Amino acid sequence: MRHRIAVVGSGPAGLTFARVLHRHDHPVTVLERDPAPDARPPGGTLDLHEGLGQLAVDKAGLLAEFKALSRPEGQAMRILDADGTVLRDWRPRPGDRANPEIDRGQLRDLLLGPVDIQWGRGVTQVVPGTRDGVLVHFADGRQEAFDLVVGADGAWSRTRPAVSSVTPHYTGVTLVETSLDDVDARHPDLARLIGDGSVAVYGVNRAVVAQRNSGGHVKVYAQFRAPLDWHTNLDPADAEAVRSSLLALFDGWAAPVLDLLRHGTAFAHRPLYALPASHTWTHVPGVTLLGDAAHLMPPLGAGANLAMLEGAELAESIAAGPGDLDEAVRAFEEQMWARAGRWAEITMTGLERLVSPDPAEALALFDQVQSS
Ligand SMILES: Cc1cc2nc3c(=O)[nH]c(=O)nc-3n(C[C@H](O)[C@H](O)[C@H](O)COP(=O)(O)OP(=O)(O)OC[C@H]3O[C@@H](n4cnc5c(N)ncnc54)[C@H](O)[C@@H]3O)c2cc1C
Repeated sequence: MRHRIAVVGSGPAGLTFARVLHRHDHPVTVLERDPAPDARPPGGTLDLHEGLGQLAVDKAGLLAEFKALSRPEGQAMRILDADGTVLRDWRPRPGDRANPEIDRGQLRDLLLGPVDIQWGRGVTQVVPGTRDGVLVHFADGRQEAFDLVVGADGAWSRTRPAVSSVTPHYTGVTLVETSLDDVDARHPDLARLIGDGSVAVYGVNRAVVAQRNSGGHVKVYAQFRAPLDWHTNLDPADAEAVRSSLLALFDGWAAPVLDLLRHGTAFAHRPLYALPASHTWTHVPGVTLLGDAAHLMPPLGAGANLAMLEGAELAESIAAGPGDLDEAVRAFEEQMWARAGRWAEITMTGLERLVSPDPAEALALFDQVQSS
């Protein structure tokens, strides 16, 4: 008999898990809170690393499609100081596919393929160890039982309390995200500044990063150390007020850098939270976690990669059956904790150095990564 398996969430972790199970003809129920695939903007661009996200895409049988969609030229990185002086101008060599970029929406559509998602099914609670198996409670009051529930429901996971009482803490760094559309035609100077990939500008305890997505779309992230309530007197929906407050925060920075913020349309407030790097739990039969639900960490290019690889690995070990499902999950968890713990340390230290009192730290980190 096939196990009844559900995954909560259709982000990179949940979708990769479902897609790899589907590839192995194993049924899976995907429960997603969003009412439809396009209910929210899909977000910015992701770089998928060889050996992490790209390996997961390969395990899903989608490497050729990924290569066709992704942008190796998007690996380019320019670093400026707050005066606008170019400190580094790194471009990938021809054929370098170590970390190509792909728009989140493109990746989602690629993974989605034949996977059947139950949209509008917000999970409120997961209760293991009942007579029927693991009971999933939904926002509409219904319940459904499974043999295994995989929580891939992100930072504020409703599955996590079934295995762990730990909750994310604020890192002390906030992002405010904005975007520019049709940048080559509407802001050609900024398009040149950003180039094919990203531009990052580091100052004291703050930074501005702009990343090119496909189709002339650019995401801009203002990053700064601030208390969680820094915006108490600011209406986040009032774009003009948020813009003015950012321009005041980055006052004195070079004009083109400020233009990245000045021309932004809407602004989204994203305080950065993390789980402790050592986050593990005592194994609970019938429930596990993947991705941000298990190991939320600062966004330094690892979270989606780990989430996808974990999804692929767990799916493969389940599909390899007919062994004990619980043993497969237990072995997977040990492997996930060891790898994610290392990345959590790396990204937390990285955040300390990128948004730091000494901007030279950010440059030193960049040089270290390039030479490794
Ligand atoms: C600004 C920024 C830039 C980043 N850049 C990169 C990058 O370049 N490379 C990289 O590897 N990582 C990057 N990350 C990190 C990456 O976005 C996350 O690590 C990744 O999205 C985690 O995937 P996930 O599937 O675990 O969770 P999520 O992407 O958060 O997906 C969770 C899913 O679960 C659904 N859900 C939530 N609650 C419920 C519920 N109760 N019931 C049902 N469904 C639910 C959500 O709607 C969502 O679809 C970045 C993060 C940020 C903030």
